[in-house]
Amino acid sequence: MADVTVIGGGISGLSTAYALMCRGLRVIVLERQTRVGGKAQSERIGGFLMEHGPSSVTEEGSVSSLTRDLDLEHTRITLGPEVRRRYIVADGRLYGIAVHPAAFVTSAFMSLTGRLRLLAEPAVPRRIAEAEETVAAFCRRRFGIEFTERVIDSLVCGMFAGTAENLSMLATFPRLVEMERKYGSILKGVVLSRLSGKRMPGRRLFSWRDGIATLPTVLAQRLGARIKTGVAVRRIAARARGFLVKTAGAGDIVTDAVVIATQPHVTAQLLDNLDAEVAFAASQIETPPLAVVYLGYARSQIAHPLDGIGFLAPGSERRHVNGALFCSTMFETRAPHGYVSLAAYIGGDRAPSLARLPSHELIGMARRQFAELLGAKGEPVLARVRHWQCGLPQYRIGHRDLLAVLNGISGRQPGLFLTGNYFAGVSVSACVTHALHTATCVSTFLSCEDRGATVSQSWPHSEAPRFGSNSLQLGCT
Ligand SMILES: Cc1cc2nc3c(=O)[nH]c(=O)nc-3n(C[C@H](O)[C@H](O)[C@H](O)COP(=O)(O)OP(=O)(O)OC[C@H]3O[C@@H](n4cnc5c(N)ncnc54)[C@H](O)[C@@H]3O)c2cc1C
Repeated sequence: MADVTVIGGGISGLSTAYALMCRGLRVIVLERQTRVGGKAQSERIGGFLMEHGPSSVTEEGSVSSLTRDLDLEHTRITLGPEVRRRYIVADGRLYGIAVHPAAFVTSAFMSLTGRLRLLAEPAVPRRIAEAEETVAAFCRRRFGIEFTERVIDSLVCGMFAGTAENLSMLATFPRLVEMERKYGSILKGVVLSRLSGKRMPGRRLFSWRDGIATLPTVLAQRLGARIKTGVAVRRIAARARGFLVKTAGAGDIVTDAVVIATQPHVTAQLLDNLDAEVAFAASQIETPPLAVVYLGYARSQIAHPLDGIGFLAPGSERRHVNGALFCSTMFETRAPHGYVSLAAYIGGDRAPSLARLPSHELIGMARRQFAELLGAKGEPVLARVRHWQCGLPQYRIGHRDLLAVLNGISGRQPGLFLTGNYFAGVSVSACVTHALHTATCVSTFLSCEDRGATVSQSWPHSEAPRFGSNSLQLGCT
């Protein structure tokens, strides 16, 4: 028996469960795999540290207060001193772009016409039509074709493993849509926000000494025996009060509330018998496969200075690799002294079939790209591939409508809540923020005398919930 059963032990499920535990609720987390973390998996191989999924966290939302509460500050690491630029592939070579806002205008990788068009953005009239636009349509209209094809397409592929032509601007970059509405211009909005002291979110990246898996590992330590790994949930049945969660191998659990924190297609399967409409909405969110190819080299094998975060390739370059991270430049301890590590990302919405290729073919692709673009020579000293059959959720046109249906679940099935990377953003910090919001909704629901009462789970929230704040009443460390 439990007050709350959380299904899924990734960042979303663990963060929700931890926040609920801190509120004194009896929580159980059921995780299908034998280890927690979901996408967040770090592996030490010799002196190298491979991130199979996320490799850095953006400092925004609730993630900082959570990591403070978990006492993770002393193992935190920030970007290495050599990170001076990010690179974009254009016309078959790498162009370094400094990490400051004016860099796109000063860099020579765009034509003069393209740069002048970018600077003309404040003169572009505000859009009146209400219909949702793709990221590509919005950015072509505001910033011009060249910037959209070279920079925006690369960025969305790097951030969401998606394509600018398929993603919804409103669902993917709601702050920029709001800026256009409010200021009539993105550049004007950015400048005014800076002048008023507001920082643009997500500019500071960090990790931990032992990798991103530190976060799920420490959350799991705090949750202790409340976590059952190697337990897959097969079905959820509604009872007169609460739910019966049926598992494969660990029996049935009677619970007052359920939080589903799985990938959207699993959420759809679990809801099929409870709410066909919500299950259908979840099934519409695609998560194209993605592969990570991790290669270690002796420093002397790479001609390039590797003085940046990595490189991104726009779709127009027609490359097999979407982009790569210079892992050991980002965080110095990711490779032994005298060696470097690189991670190439292949597949996603741009080329899903490539992500399913066998490991040796993917390694060959990454090696050819690194030879051509970075001057890599000879055999890598280490080569590993991680295939993610279910990659990142694509926030396509209509995603907001799907979320409206999904958020309706707690009204139709009181006590049932959903969280995960298809709600408020795919990043680790967005998952944590949505998870804490979900925990607040669950505990509000459970504190009502009349459990028939419904608690709206709608997002966005005006302010990210924080650990240690009055709203969460924590302090359980
Ligand atoms: C290659 C890659 C690189 C990334 N890079 C970054 C990055 O640098 N920075 C960043 O912020 N984000 C990054 N992300 C995104 C981020 O890692 C994810 O969005 C986030 O970790 C998702 O967490 P989650 O808990 O919502 O889902 P998941 O991690 O997918 O967790 C879902 C969990 O549910 C479990 N489950 C499924 N079915 C069942 C069942 N029936 N019963 C019980 N359990 C079940 C699964 O086993 C899994 O553990 C990256 C993602 C990928 C794939």
